[in-house]
Amino acid sequence: MTQSATATDTVLSVRDLTVDFPTGDGVVHAVRGVSYELRSGEVLGIVGESGSGKSVTSMAVMGLLPKTARIAGSVRFRDEELLGLTDKEMTRVRGSKIAMIFQDPMTSLNPVYKIGYQLAEAVLAHNDVSRQTARRRAVELLDLVNIPQPDKRVDQYPHEFSGGMRQRVVIAIAMANDPDVIIADEPTTALDVTVQAQVLESLRAAQRETGAAMVLITHDLGVVAGQADRVLVMYAGKPVEIGTVEDIYYNPRMPYTLGLLGSLPRLDKREQERLTPIQGGPPSLVNLPPGCPFTPRCPLAQEICQTREPDLEPVDGSGFTAAGLRIHLSACHFKEQVARQDPADLFTATATDATLPAEFGAAPGAVEIVDNNNGTEDEIR
Ligand code: ADP
Ligand code: MG
Repeated sequence: MTQSATATDTVLSVRDLTVDFPTGDGVVHAVRGVSYELRSGEVLGIVGESGSGKSVTSMAVMGLLPKTARIAGSVRFRDEELLGLTDKEMTRVRGSKIAMIFQDPMTSLNPVYKIGYQLAEAVLAHNDVSRQTARRRAVELLDLVNIPQPDKRVDQYPHEFSGGMRQRVVIAIAMANDPDVIIADEPTTALDVTVQAQVLESLRAAQRETGAAMVLITHDLGVVAGQADRVLVMYAGKPVEIGTVEDIYYNPRMPYTLGLLGSLPRLDKREQERLTPIQGGPPSLVNLPPGCPFTPRCPLAQEICQTREPDLEPVDGSGFTAAGLRIHLSACHFKEQVARQDPADLFTATATDATLPAEFGAAPGAVEIVDNNNGTEDEIR
């Protein structure tokens, strides 16, 4: 690929996006500088705990935030700046250019209309075809997202569909709009694990059929593993690591990413090996102290982590994009030392100075960690 091909290949470009919400309790700094590029046809996973700013970032892209939100930065769809467009102008973008799929399919479906009618409306909105053709396409789309007996199901109402099937209908509607970008915000979070896999498969089908690029948002790093090309990890309103799926899963360089991996069930681990959750919770976004927001939960934290928030910077040895940019970035003062750490060692309750590499020393202000194994409490220091 040439450099210019890559530049024009970018469908969605988010730059230095910040979102503040003035509230009675102070200003919530929900998004504190998010930048990413989405290239044509690629799937970018955005991962982070609840409250890390994933939804607010996407709602800002879609122009769906409440009027009270203070938004700055840039959101470009191909060559068009989206921030600052009027509601009417954004209506033109939503659906046909960028489609959004939410956790609850009923936010997108109308309970009083038949499934077929809602699909046909989407088809008619973007194609100059007859009602009959639109209905045929509706059946076809239901089939594409693996709804059984689509010719019968097309005449049913949303309440006659299961949760997983409703979500697949929403995906079919997104396809009918033939978008360039699909943003799916926790599309499988409300579903059983077995149904999750089917819905993810339908999402892939939608992506293949439309050739759309996709932003797949989830709090579950396990969900994006088989789906995404690249992963962006968010913490406290900011990206803290971004890289290819291989970078993130096999060479994570931010302790938070490592912690997320350690709390995932792993097939390649012995059964009795317990999962190692990250203790504590994310900070309040109203009065963030200086420094890295992950410090109070980080087993590797040092003095500098409390005073200076690290920038997102290239990881040594990272690959390059065709445009000559580094692919793997991490926001950690100790990103080189994070390499090859085992999350179970790093985040386990029994972690002490003895189990940490000497160069890290004691963690200042380390939080108390509860060891679920034997019921005793140990501190990392
Ligand atoms: P995520 O999707 O990662 O779980 P969100 O993007 O929904 O997190 O929220 C990020 C932060 O912004 C949270 O602290 C949330 O409480 C806050 N927030 C979201 N919407 C509003 C709003 N309308 N007013 C005030 N705070 C908000
Ligand atoms: Mg959310």
